[in-house]
Amino acid sequence: MLSATFPFFRISGVEVRLHFTFVILVALLVLSTRPEAWTHLLLATGIFASVLLHELAHAYVARRFKIRTLDIIMYFLGGVARLERQPGLREDLLIAAAGPAANLLLAAAFHFLHSANPTVAHLDDLRQANLLLAFFNLLPALPLDGGRILRSLLSFRMPELRAARLTSIAGQGIALSLAAFSLWQSQWLFLAAAGFLFLTARKEYEAQRSAVLMSGALVREAMIERFETLDHGDTLRYAAEILLTSAQQDFPVLHGSQVVGLLTRDELVEALSQHGPDAYVAGAMDRDFLALPPDSSLPAHFALLAQNDFRALILSDGRLIGLLTLDKINEFLVLRSVGLRRELA
Ligand SMILES: [Zn+2]
Repeated sequence: MLSATFPFFRISGVEVRLHFTFVILVALLVLSTRPEAWTHLLLATGIFASVLLHELAHAYVARRFKIRTLDIIMYFLGGVARLERQPGLREDLLIAAAGPAANLLLAAAFHFLHSANPTVAHLDDLRQANLLLAFFNLLPALPLDGGRILRSLLSFRMPELRAARLTSIAGQGIALSLAAFSLWQSQWLFLAAAGFLFLTARKEYEAQRSAVLMSGALVREAMIERFETLDHGDTLRYAAEILLTSAQQDFPVLHGSQVVGLLTRDELVEALSQHGPDAYVAGAMDRDFLALPPDSSLPAHFALLAQNDFRALILSDGRLIGLLTLDKINEFLVLRSVGLRRELA
């Protein structure tokens, strides 16, 4: 995500980065030869400052809770303040509320400035822009601030998971209403936002659910212990046969007793089509696999696992003792959701 951004400036220790979509918008305005483009640029600068103050308000309140802001990324239509850790629900309520509150204060300020100087261009536009920013961000749909506020408020009265579920339903309701509105008004930008909010509502809930179900689990509780392995000198023909005759899709590759790679089903099929069945496993396997220790925390590795398609080899003192796959992690979560905990030997 950081690759499409570049640093712009730092403000009280927080780096503000520009996303390329934002730069394109400004470039179009600057390059436009129409004379009113310059007053548009003035307006765009005012909106930029408003969005930035919204994000800085999040960062300021987060700092009060001793949570550092990694950076603020400014997109085409808004910003994101990335925090170093997920705040607790009570903290998140105030951190989320700070952003829209900043826009409401700015709207009030522009309202008074406009009343005092009615001839100055754009003061009223900026009042409206800030009201719109506050309104949109307060929609009760994750990942918008309103969704975070709703989730926090609900979780004071009910279990965390139920609060997340209700917030997800609210988010989908908001997304559908926004879609209906955009079709009615032919506002296609809103339709894109509605699609995004609908998909995110479900994803946020599933992520929350996994986090709650995983809490306190060790890697070894979710790992497979009976599995086939391949030797680096095996042929792809042999690997394909194991793929057909077992339920397994991912194969650790050994050299003697040492693990040297991981061969996934997709890599196997790809290598078969490229090099034929007589090629060796060593040439097709992934040497850059994720290795985890068995007694480490499963949720602590969640982000790392997600980056690796939830595949990992479990090594104890360099020896292969287990395998993690997406299917098995899901199976593990299903069993936990019905209250079953694995007995560890
Ligand atoms: Zn916000």
